[in-house]
Amino acid sequence: MRTFPKPIVVVSKCLGFDHCRYNGDIIPDEFVARLGPYVEYIPVCAEVEIGLGVPRPPINVVAVGGEERLMQPATGRDVSAEMREFAARFLGSLAAADGFILKSRSPSCGLKDVKLRAANGKAIVGTTSGFFGRAVLERFPHAAIEDEGRLSNFRIRQHFLTKLFTLAAWREVKQAPTMGRLVQFHAANKLLLMAYNQKELRLMGRIVANLEQRPLAAVLADYEAHLAEALRAAPRCTSAVNVLMHGFGYFSEGLTSEEKRFFLDALEQYRAGKLPLIAPLTLMQSYGIRFPREYLDQQTFFHPYPEALVELTDSGKEMACLEEAQRQRRAATPRAGAA
Ligand code: SF4
Repeated sequence: MRTFPKPIVVVSKCLGFDHCRYNGDIIPDEFVARLGPYVEYIPVCAEVEIGLGVPRPPINVVAVGGEERLMQPATGRDVSAEMREFAARFLGSLAAADGFILKSRSPSCGLKDVKLRAANGKAIVGTTSGFFGRAVLERFPHAAIEDEGRLSNFRIRQHFLTKLFTLAAWREVKQAPTMGRLVQFHAANKLLLMAYNQKELRLMGRIVANLEQRPLAAVLADYEAHLAEALRAAPRCTSAVNVLMHGFGYFSEGLTSEEKRFFLDALEQYRAGKLPLIAPLTLMQSYGIRFPREYLDQQTFFHPYPEALVELTDSGKEMACLEEAQRQRRAATPRAGAA
């Protein structure tokens, strides 16, 4: 059974931790609460930290002469400098952070869907990032960063959790680094990385092989940069097919031709959007029980984050992902008679 390190996650304090919104509200968030036992949260409210108090007149991001300012229309206060200074101090004080869950649409915490207002503070002229949210993106470009709104999407949540727990495991390697631990980390994440980005997986394999005998620090820095690139975006819906085919190669010898046909058929049905991923995955796990293979057992691909965070309803949502892949395939297929 895989044991998981506790990721360090900075979270907007109003997401269930404190009544710190401008009107004294708190926003209970089911996902944030469910994740709680498996992570170390660092809750923070940037607006309270710069002394705006609760309750407080709301603030806005305002476009003034080609520049964005954080303004409090009711008082005419410009708190841009205080917020930038706080963000730099707070983020600079963190010993480590594997992820961030920030409040969507907030002029402070929002990541990218924040209203940008005209100088008069009323008309909306576009969208932008909140001041604290932008500082997070700039200072921790490779961390798992999302807002609570986007995390209600199955695919985004799955990617966020996978990245979060992978980065926490990587942080543990860096705490007491040896070549052996790097090799172990790479071996355990091989299938996961294969699903995310095959090109990066190949490059990372070469880095770990270290034929040039580079010093450990240089190898780790190089590996970390490629790990960040590999985990940058969620894998394509159907990339799991390649990984499962790879895993199948380990068992196929021991299976009867009917069993092989059954598995390949399940895989094909998954590819066609008729079965969720859990169907071929469960078959493969049952082969793992019949024919134990240490290499596959240790693969994080099969358990990227704690089981309790997998929702029962998630397997159904996989279908939406596959339907999207089907739509893309149909769009890419030339129609009969088309030039
Ligand atoms: S969104 Fe951020 S700044 Fe606003 S109340 Fe929540 S934690 Fe505080």
